[in-house]
Amino acid sequence: CPLGPALLFVKTSQGKEEGRRFYACSACRDRKDCNFFQWEDEKVSETRLAAREEYNRNHQPSFTHRQNVERYCYQLLLPAEWETHSDHQFLCDISTAQLKSPSQLLHPLENKKTNAQYLFADRSCEFLLDLIIDLGFRRVLSVGTPRLHEMIQSKASQEEEFRVRSLLLDIDFRYSQFYTEDEFCHYNMFNHYFFGGEAAHETCRKFLYQDNGERIIMVTDPPFGGLVEALASSFKKLMAMWQEAEKEGHNNQEMPMFWIFPYFFESRILEFFPSFSMMDYQVDYDNHALYKHGKTGRRQSPVRIFTNLTPSTIVLPVEEGYRFCAICQRYVSSGNQHCEICNSCTSKDGRRWKHCVLCKKCVKPSWFHCNNCNCCALQNHSCEKTDAGCFVCGKAGHKRSTCPSLSHT
Ligand code: SAH
Ligand code: ZN
Ligand code: ZN
Ligand code: ZN
Ligand code: ZN
Repeated sequence: CPLGPALLFVKTSQGKEEGRRFYACSACRDRKDCNFFQWEDEKVSETRLAAREEYNRNHQPSFTHRQNVERYCYQLLLPAEWETHSDHQFLCDISTAQLKSPSQLLHPLENKKTNAQYLFADRSCEFLLDLIIDLGFRRVLSVGTPRLHEMIQSKASQEEEFRVRSLLLDIDFRYSQFYTEDEFCHYNMFNHYFFGGEAAHETCRKFLYQDNGERIIMVTDPPFGGLVEALASSFKKLMAMWQEAEKEGHNNQEMPMFWIFPYFFESRILEFFPSFSMMDYQVDYDNHALYKHGKTGRRQSPVRIFTNLTPSTIVLPVEEGYRFCAICQRYVSSGNQHCEICNSCTSKDGRRWKHCVLCKKCVKPSWFHCNNCNCCALQNHSCEKTDAGCFVCGKAGHKRSTCPSLSHT
């Protein structure tokens, strides 16, 4: 499809073990956005293949990355082109400073199911960059983190001493207007597809090759609706590219990584990356009403950093209430109490959790042990069970809409 290789899915119906397999778009979960569909065992005629190729060609951006870079020096819309855009909103007199902050200039994409863009609040973005620098990294592979990339680029151009470099991989091709082919690759993180072909692949490979001992870290903040399995498979491929570039160096080590994702995906992420652990730091966003650090009555963000770095090295800001637990050897949020029975700081959401002796684990403060369900749940839950696993946490007994890990109560 226009977004690169499709993924193989399986349609299961209740009770049936084996479902029929089909290919669909890797990135768009809504048929309205990409209607590619093909049964695995379906024969596709030459004419249909040709039509499909033609369709894919027509659905690529109208300018190449190179053309976009050349246009940048003048105006993003050349005067001769204004007329055809006369019914669009436009901004004139764009300053150099604005060109350096494309994420502020562009409207965040809002498509809920595929590529909703949630931009880091400055506070969180600065925290991430300071942490990266304090940990000794000098190169950042920014996968779906345009605002972090932008902060690095802008500091690099303003501060002489600043030595950090970044390469942005993102599906939002609008960024090709602001960054050269060495700074941005048009990339789909659900199928590890470089739209720029072998040349873009090579750019990324080169970036991963660490000359003069500069350490590299990958930072990614994928759309939350995305399939964890598809993301993990792409990230493993990026890690493998790093390992190949790093032949003599760290044999058998993993490329350091920050995967930014909601805490309720913890078990899914650990399934694919057992070496990862979840940090308590709450990542805040600018344009996300729920996940924003409010002026009054702050809403807690469910978004965390997952990393394969040693937890004790991830220093969280004391002025925001984080403290170090000497037993767990990691920084935890202020409300996170060390449970003597679990022998761990068990809160996932920042509130103080309570230990249930029957469940033999700590649970959310609002939960009670239900003897029907034989586990802890909200007091007003319904005890019915369903067979299929929940899309969010993978557990049986409830659907996505009623997943206990999503409840904020
Ligand atoms: N918090 C980050 C932005 C995260 S929003 C920041 O402020 O820098 C998710 C990002 O992933 C967006 O930039 C979006 O364009 C990108 N994205 C969405 N789907 C993608 C895909 N299939 N492949 C690559 N990038 C994708
Ligand atoms: Zn602890
Ligand atoms: Zn406990
Ligand atoms: Zn219980
Ligand atoms: Zn129950």
